[in-house]
Amino acid sequence: MNTTEWESLCDGCGKCCLNKLIDDETEELYYTNAACLLLDAKQGHCKSYEQRFSFVPTCTKVTMDNLAMLTWLPDSCSYRRLNEGRGLPSWHPLKTGSKEAMIEAGMSVAGKVTCETKIRDIEDHIVIWPMKDVE
Ligand code: SF4
Repeated sequence: MNTTEWESLCDGCGKCCLNKLIDDETEELYYTNAACLLLDAKQGHCKSYEQRFSFVPTCTKVTMDNLAMLTWLPDSCSYRRLNEGRGLPSWHPLKTGSKEAMIEAGMSVAGKVTCETKIRDIEDHIVIWPMKDVE
């Protein structure tokens, strides 16, 4: 699989661009609606995808080699689904030709998040919807 094919598997949900918290005692993972400063909160995609590592060095590139270790990826993540043998969902842009079905299925972060630079207490921004998968 070449880079273009690999990248096309990403559904563009933007969930991996949300800040996440891990409970010190239980090690439980919590998603927040506080998005990376590069995320376009209305459109739900990275504003500087090609240069993202220059602006956010801690951004994680999902690859075939590290995929199994990225346990924080949401259940709906297409890479995670494929790695678990679940296949792509019916709303995936590769199947539908656009992001509309993904948005209708509630899988996109578009319009649901706040830039991390605008929040005070991140614990007030814990949400459960990014962990949901509909298929
Ligand atoms: S969570 Fe997975 S499918 Fe969604 S944008 Fe991130 S890498 Fe792509």
